[in-house]
Order: sequence, then C-alpha cells, then structure tokens
Amino acid sequence: MLEIVSYRNLFKLVLGILLFSSCIYQPLKADDLYQAERDKLIRLIEQDVLDTSEYLKRSSLDRRVLDAMARVPRHEFVPADLVDRAYLNRPLPIGHGQTISQPYIVAIMTDLLDLKPHHKVLEIGTGSGYQAAVLAALDTRVWSIEIIEPLGQQAKARLQRLGFDNVEVRIGDGYYGWPEHAPFDAIIVTAAANHIPPPLVKQLAIGGKMIIPVGSRFSTQELILITRVNQDELVTRLVLPVRFVPLTGGH
Ligand code: SAM
Repeated sequence: MLEIVSYRNLFKLVLGILLFSSCIYQPLKADDLYQAERDKLIRLIEQDVLDTSEYLKRSSLDRRVLDAMARVPRHEFVPADLVDRAYLNRPLPIGHGQTISQPYIVAIMTDLLDLKPHHKVLEIGTGSGYQAAVLAALDTRVWSIEIIEPLGQQAKARLQRLGFDNVEVRIGDGYYGWPEHAPFDAIIVTAAANHIPPPLVKQLAIGGKMIIPVGSRFSTQELILITRVNQDELVTRLVLPVRFVPLTGGH
C-alpha cells in the first residue's frame, strides 16, 4: 500500500513539474525562429557596413532601413528548396538565371536613396520582389519593372499575398522607366547597365537620387549614386565595386 501511494505521489510530482515547465518553457515558433535569424542578419550587415565604411562614407545605416529589413520575411522570396539559406548574407538563385541580391547590398542601396515616407520610388529589376518589399516597408510608393514575365508575375502575386499594397509591378524593359508615374524621388536599378539610361535620368525628380550598378557584364561594376540637384545639374558619386546580373533588353 505504502509503495502504491508513493508511486502515485511521484506520478503527481512529475506531472506537476511537466505542467509547470510547460508554462514557462514555450518552444520557439517558426516565426520567432525567422525573426531571430533576421536579427542575426542585421548584425552581419552592420558589421559589413563598418568594414566598408570608407567606401560608403558612413559607419552605420539609417535605423529605419535596418528595421524594415528586420521585418521583411526574406524566406518568402526565395525558392522553397533554399528557405534554410534565406538569412545568409548572400545572393541566391531565383530561377531564369537571376538572383535575389545580397542583403548587405539591398541595405546599402536602400540607405543611399535617403527615402522618406510617401516618396515615389521606381525599381528596375523586380526579381523576387524582395527589394521592392524593403522599399515598401519604408512607407514609400513603389513602381517596379521586371523584364522576365514569370518572375514578374510571381513577384506580383507574392507581394500581394504578403500585403505590400503600395507596390505595383509590371512586365517590361525598365531601361525606359515608367514615364506615366514620373517624376520619382528615387530610382533603384538592380541589374548592371553598361551606361546610365537617359530615360531614367529624365524621370528623376529635382532632389531625387538614383542608385545603379554601371559597368561591363563580364567583370565587377561600380555602384553609382546620382543626385539631381536641379533641372540641368546632376552630381555623381562612385560608391563601391559590386557584381550584378546584366540589364537586358533591346535598348
Ligand atoms: N531586386 C531583385 C530582388 O529583390 O529579388 C533582384 C534583382 S536581380 C539581381 C536583377 C533583375 O533584373 C532580374 O530579375 C532581371 O530579370 C531583371 N532585369 C534585367 N534587365 C532588365 C530590364 N531591362 N528591365 C527590367 N528588369 C530587368
């Protein structure tokens, strides 16, 4: 009898401990895990910015840009078989020979545009839609052009599903911009051009900034920041060497 009672007590004790610990130990849900990975990625980006501060002429990025990147779920923008690599600070293939850019590059290009809420932004090269989502997370209005139809359609559906209502995507050759919505406060080109496209310069508002990789498709290119000072004057700054897939199209 004594033995039975003590087993029963032991059982109650173990059950009590399990119930108590289940109250204080909540296993991490997938969302929390992704958030932890994003936070880690932000720290890697901050370190890369420090390491390249001489090029960037700044040792930290606008907090708003990093906060936006800490919110956008990059794992939703990569192919299913690469989800476990979504938060590496690396470019990844997205099909059709194209890539989703390295998060550090997304961060610095976004930062250099000096975006304010409600700015009108034109992106050339929608790709996965990730860069557009980061721009949109800064409360801007985004128009994005993709030349490869299946990529553009997928990105459009993805951005809609994730609730980025302030992004419009269209299929076409971004070299010619989107004159119906010009002028833009910011233009970001996420494919390498061999020259700065004049139609894009024309669509840049006074005070507006354009960031674009320029150079040969066979080597590294130079990331260039262009600021329109007034109707006739542009200021151009070379930022740092980069490597992007080429801007294609018939221009
Ligand atoms: N911004 C993208 C993202 O966040 O996933 C990554 C862009 S990927 C490096 C470059 C993209 O530019 C590709 O999807 C490519 O098809 C597109 N592209 C190349 N030439 C283009 C053009 N003339 N007009 C529009 N898109 C173009």
